[in-house]
Amino acid sequence: RNLRGQNLVTRKIGDLAGGRDLVTIHRADLIDVLVRAISAECLRTGTRVTGVGCGDHGRAEIVTDGDTARYDLVVAADGVHSVVRQQIWPGEGTVVHTGVSAWRWIVDGPPPDFVGQVWGIRGEFGILPLAGNRTYAFAGAQRGESLAHFADWPEPVSQLVANADPARIIENELLEIRTPKLLTRGKVALIGDAAHAMRPHLGLGAALAIEDAVTLAAYADDLAGYTKARRHRVRTVQWISRQMSTVVMPDNRSLAAVRDVVVRLTPDILALSVFGVINRWRPKPIERH
Ligand SMILES: Cc1cc2nc3c(=O)[nH]c(=O)nc-3n(C[C@H](O)[C@H](O)[C@H](O)COP(=O)(O)OP(=O)(O)OC[C@H]3O[C@@H](n4cnc5c(N)ncnc54)[C@H](O)[C@@H]3O)c2cc1C
Repeated sequence: RNLRGQNLVTRKIGDLAGGRDLVTIHRADLIDVLVRAISAECLRTGTRVTGVGCGDHGRAEIVTDGDTARYDLVVAADGVHSVVRQQIWPGEGTVVHTGVSAWRWIVDGPPPDFVGQVWGIRGEFGILPLAGNRTYAFAGAQRGESLAHFADWPEPVSQLVANADPARIIENELLEIRTPKLLTRGKVALIGDAAHAMRPHLGLGAALAIEDAVTLAAYADDLAGYTKARRHRVRTVQWISRQMSTVVMPDNRSLAAVRDVVVRLTPDILALSVFGVINRWRPKPIERH
């Protein structure tokens, strides 16, 4: 919707996301599922990596608070401020500050009647149902704006903002990474935000991290193949996500009016083909020897 409550795009989210439906899963629940899929001895929590050697001629070395160990492969999934990327890719993988602020929180109880996004001026707001009879609310706004920017937005946005519990709100500046040319060096591979943090307008960052992992598993014997398989994909999604900022939160009223007309007149076939580019991705089968 726009700020006047007009519907700009009316779609089942499954049409855009490529499946039958959308499932919104809380990060803690996702981590729980992943943790249960591996045996306990494979997991060491509460350990900070402080150093890494890329193992050009052997095994990669990992230095933690209390230990140094060598591994056949180190997969760095340590996020946008990745220590591993900074050490092994010095001068690459620059962190780009977008100036855009994001607020996310969870409300106990089902969503209001309206589920979807409101695209405004200098800001966007989203409401999604979350597993466990909860609601996920998120907002993003251009540099200099606060959550108060949404206080007079049409219902149910203003109500959600007024009732938000400050203790449950996560606030971040959106950051991007200039993806390094190669995603592996020696026996170290980058995946997820460490490799390609992006604006979250497509809601794909965590999904891409999982794609990276599946692809890396398929190219375990050919690490150069991993870069080839992922570079174009992550750059494309990163680029579309960046363009989405202009669409969902243009700088002024005139641009928002143009946006509304263009989005409403865009033929379904065109809109769906953009999402098709994103959703056509399928994993390379893993060959077991
Ligand atoms: C506002 C916002 C909304 C988003 N919405 C969505 C969405 O709807 N859907 C989606 O798919 N994605 C979304 N994303 C993106 C998503 O959160 C990220 O892409 C995803 O979390 C990346 O996962 P990751 O494992 O690569 O990195 P992270 O989730 O950042 O995890 C990195 C981990 O490494 C650990 N770590 C860091 N340094 C060290 C160290 N030195 N030693 C040991 N451990 C370390 C950290 O503690 C952390 O646990 C959103 C992002 C933002 C900012």
